[in-house]
Amino acid sequence: MKPAKGFDSCNKLRSALSFALAACLAVMVTTCAAENDSMNGLAERYVKLVLAVGQHDADYVDAYYGPSEWQKEAESAKRPLAEIDRDAAAVEAALNAAKPAPSAEEIVRLRHEYLSKQLAALRARVAMLGGKALTFDEESKALYDAVAPTHTDSEFDAVLKNLEARLPGPGTLADRFDTFRSQFTIPKDRLDATFKAAIEGCRSRTLAHLSLPAEESFVVEYVTNKSWSGYNWYKGNYHSVIQVNTDLPIFADRAIDLACHEGYPGHHVYNVLLEKTFVRDRGWVEFSVYPLRSPQSLIAEGSANYGIEIAYPRAERLQFERTVIFPTAGLNPAGVDEYYDVLGLVDRLSYAGNEAARRYLNGQIDAATAAKWLERYGLYSPPRAQQRMRFVDQYRSYVINYNLGKDMVARYVESQSNGGADAALRWDVFTRLLSSPRLPSGLTR
Ligand SMILES: [Zn+2]
Repeated sequence: MKPAKGFDSCNKLRSALSFALAACLAVMVTTCAAENDSMNGLAERYVKLVLAVGQHDADYVDAYYGPSEWQKEAESAKRPLAEIDRDAAAVEAALNAAKPAPSAEEIVRLRHEYLSKQLAALRARVAMLGGKALTFDEESKALYDAVAPTHTDSEFDAVLKNLEARLPGPGTLADRFDTFRSQFTIPKDRLDATFKAAIEGCRSRTLAHLSLPAEESFVVEYVTNKSWSGYNWYKGNYHSVIQVNTDLPIFADRAIDLACHEGYPGHHVYNVLLEKTFVRDRGWVEFSVYPLRSPQSLIAEGSANYGIEIAYPRAERLQFERTVIFPTAGLNPAGVDEYYDVLGLVDRLSYAGNEAARRYLNGQIDAATAAKWLERYGLYSPPRAQQRMRFVDQYRSYVINYNLGKDMVARYVESQSNGGADAALRWDVFTRLLSSPRLPSGLTR
């Protein structure tokens, strides 16, 4: 059994008490150990519940590297949803009864809050699998602990007007943007070399600011026929498999975006730090499983997206694109500045993706109308709009985790690093967030 290191307040108490209070001390130690044992017991039940839900939802368990017998048990038992919910309610009640005092150490409070919120999201997902209908906002609140702001068409129109001026000519603006962007397609035979260069850049910049276990590693695979553009599959033992979807042309900016988002300092680093900090050092088994449809995903996607800017602030990114990425991809570096100016404007349409998903999932528009709307307001090409709608069908309100998640993580980190101006402090706050159980509503406190 691993020693618990999360109960420093107990240690402080121990040292403060004199020998004469040995009897009292024994009571304190027993209480703290019992609290830890009880949390570890509830954490184990939580992990088994997540694995049980995974039997009803193929996307639910994104990563698991705890005891393999628990996975086998879940597969053979295939517990019914009603039974899973009853057990989850019992764990929830036990957690409520074990709430730490407001004066308890922060990490102890965060652990309790993490388990409570992850479990509430699990129960919401079980209810959905049982047929409960939620609106888009109700669902994102229940599963991801956050609600995305709404935007009107006219707000997007204002951004589109700026882009019209940047990309004049005949045809629709979406077509002109597609033509413009096509100039920056990474040729297929240069894809792997370009990704390797991007990964090396993201890795060295990340390792300059935080330390990772020496044995951390990942492999990159190229796949097709997916609704996403890239995916990190965390395998445990500090190892990931990163998959890049080549169904559609891959543009130059995606090299750094994907290398940072999926790798360093994104998903791979987040998972490595959670395994090191909690599963190995403290024996907190709840972190050996990652339920995709849970509040943890907003932190994962938000930090992976914000991590791109942390590793590559704009000026440094443009320099790296000009000197390494574009030449490796065989593209003319003279176009870098204009390309990123236009992308900066298009990025302001990112919330259009949430609107299309919200209106579609709320039943206000059908999939074909949502795809058309994405072409107009999000400047998606028709095949990308189709791919996006497949993503929405599969992952639903998960879409908010990328842009709202990024904005929430950015606000949290920058509020503690002089607006982000102190680069070293920004890395420090960001790294601490990646090594903590903090969930979305905990970012705004
Ligand atoms: Zn991601």
